[in-house]
Amino acid sequence: MTGGAEAAALGPRGPGAHAPAVVAVREAPVPFRLASRDAHRENTVITLRPGVELGGGRLLLMGGPCAVESEAQLMAAAEATARAGGRVLRGGAFKPRTSPYSFQGLGQEGLRLLDRARRRFGLAIVTEALDEDGLARVAEVADMVQIGARNMQNYSLLRAAGRIRKPVLLKRGLSATLEEWLLAAEYVLAGGNGDVALCERGIRTFARETRNTLDLSSVPLVKALSHLPVVVDPSHATGAWPLVAPMARAAVAAGADGVLVEIHPDPSQALSDGPQSLSLPQFAELAAALPLIARAVGRHV
Ligand code: PEP
Ligand code: MN
Repeated sequence: MTGGAEAAALGPRGPGAHAPAVVAVREAPVPFRLASRDAHRENTVITLRPGVELGGGRLLLMGGPCAVESEAQLMAAAEATARAGGRVLRGGAFKPRTSPYSFQGLGQEGLRLLDRARRRFGLAIVTEALDEDGLARVAEVADMVQIGARNMQNYSLLRAAGRIRKPVLLKRGLSATLEEWLLAAEYVLAGGNGDVALCERGIRTFARETRNTLDLSSVPLVKALSHLPVVVDPSHATGAWPLVAPMARAAVAAGADGVLVEIHPDPSQALSDGPQSLSLPQFAELAAALPLIARAVGRHV
């Protein structure tokens, strides 16, 4: 990374700045101009629906199943989210699965169920768009459109997301550097959509004991470099439900603006990501603990 934003994030100028042989130190412009804190000093606050904000003083709790599987499953997860104080229901209607033989989501029927859950529980809806063709359909129902890790560098999708009038949740690519991630956000911003939030969901490393490695240092670093809100997804970051609550708590302590947690009424029967899904009582317990941590770092829920 280059420029003033890096300096702000990583300390004052490089060592050459004080050397007698140095005549002048010039800052190279940051490559992610619109996402940069230099361009916009204040935090961006995204309104998902009236009263549901991401990036202000209040921590936003997002819960929901990896995939919408049935009306009963979704409504149970939505009710548990609302009861726990969550304001956002996240569930996939269109799923980006590693294998073409795995459950791909209910598609349009999933969107219909999400819309119904929103009306019933007053939650904001976040759901993923897999491609340009599906983006408009998803944006019709979603209060915020997710762009998944595998699509973080799908530049035609990012450009299309710049043209919609709905906020975007941009997940970090599996092997993306912070600069690549911020430049992906820049595509959406440059396209005219200023409502972009970044979601840290773990990156692929040599570690085998977890599905991914949660790079929590990206939270304060991105917040120093950029004005965009940051959400942490401890579910994909670990792949294992016993690790989800500790990492969610750590994410709040690190300054995340939101936490996105996969939940399921019966994780053992989930059609996708069951091993990393919290049961509904486990989610309630986590939700009760988060306000304590939020308060300790000057936030509220
Ligand atoms: C998901 O959110 O269910 C998902 C597939 O996430 P990611 O794109 O981070 O892998
Ligand atoms: Mn998932």
